[in-house]
Amino acid sequence: MNEETNITCILCPIGCEIRINKKELFIIDGAKCEKGIEYSKNEVFNPKRILTTSILVKNGILPLLSVKTSKPIPKEKIFKILKIIKRTSVNAPVEMGEIIIQNVLGTGSDIIATKTIKKFETS
Ligand code: SF4
Repeated sequence: MNEETNITCILCPIGCEIRINKKELFIIDGAKCEKGIEYSKNEVFNPKRILTTSILVKNGILPLLSVKTSKPIPKEKIFKILKIIKRTSVNAPVEMGEIIIQNVLGTGSDIIATKTIKKFETS
């Protein structure tokens, strides 16, 4: 089994190629700073992402509301969280920044609206 992997650090424009030993959890070479070392270890052992998607809106002027997680969530939970979001709908009006799902799947991250959607009014 290959115990080495390469991670490209995306924390700054330099984009260091960092070589890491997965088994022993140490940086072999490539990182120019401490932030990159922390980033690459997290990428190998606990990768997280901000999730952006959309959610169904009832009675709104638009049918879909764009949402995102309030902070990065573990990558392995993304598909379960997408299933939860797919089963969820909100009633308009919705304000940007409104919490749609609190502490989704126990991640400590909320699903929040990234857009305001007004209620559809019939005249
Ligand atoms: S390791 Fe440091 S210098 Fe290199 S890309 Fe990451 S943040 Fe930038």
